[in-house]
Amino acid sequence: MASDVLGQELRITEIFFSLQGEARTVGLPTVFIRLTGCPLRCAYCDTTYSFTGGEKFSIGQILQQVADYGAHYVCVTGGEPLAQPNCLLLLTALCDLGYSVSLETSGALDVREVDIRVSKVVDLKTPDSGESHRNLYENLPHLSPHDQIKFVICSRRDYDWARFKIDEYQLKHRVSDILLSPSHGQQNPTELAQWIIQDKLPVRLQVQLHKYLWNNEPGH
Ligand code: SF4
Repeated sequence: MASDVLGQELRITEIFFSLQGEARTVGLPTVFIRLTGCPLRCAYCDTTYSFTGGEKFSIGQILQQVADYGAHYVCVTGGEPLAQPNCLLLLTALCDLGYSVSLETSGALDVREVDIRVSKVVDLKTPDSGESHRNLYENLPHLSPHDQIKFVICSRRDYDWARFKIDEYQLKHRVSDILLSPSHGQQNPTELAQWIIQDKLPVRLQVQLHKYLWNNEPGH
């Protein structure tokens, strides 16, 4: 790997090893790299501690820490990781080393330059997030069959909105999984499950495993 890439820096909130709490690889041992900073302010945000602070790490240092955990799965998250342009270099470096890499992104920033080997988990922000005006719908044609789209559902209104968008953009033909995630402590998961069953919606219901296991403590 080129030394100029290894020397590039990113601001990092935390790097830790845990079980993946969401998406297609839920439950699998995974190294998480949480990048600092996010231009959005979703009403339900559970990682506000990543908005500021953090520490600068070179990509070389990050790769070393990841290697020390000896895991196969790596998740780059935030904050909004793509708010730091060097995130793209990190993603490619991780893929080059043979990791199975996922990227959790708000859907508000351009994903076109993300390495094609990365599985992108792209949010579509619902009305009750307060940030639905930030959705970059131009991203949708650039998603691959191994990518995923996530809706965090806060209410029946959000559910109806998501259902409409799934149909409007024919999302089931664009990605491997459409994830509906009840906003923790706000939307009853059983109620959401019943709506999905009634409508035969082509989605995967996910509850955030890390919140049940560790009550969303940082480092998990
Ligand atoms: S995009 Fe993610 S990190 Fe940013 S405010 Fe929304 S939930 Fe929080």
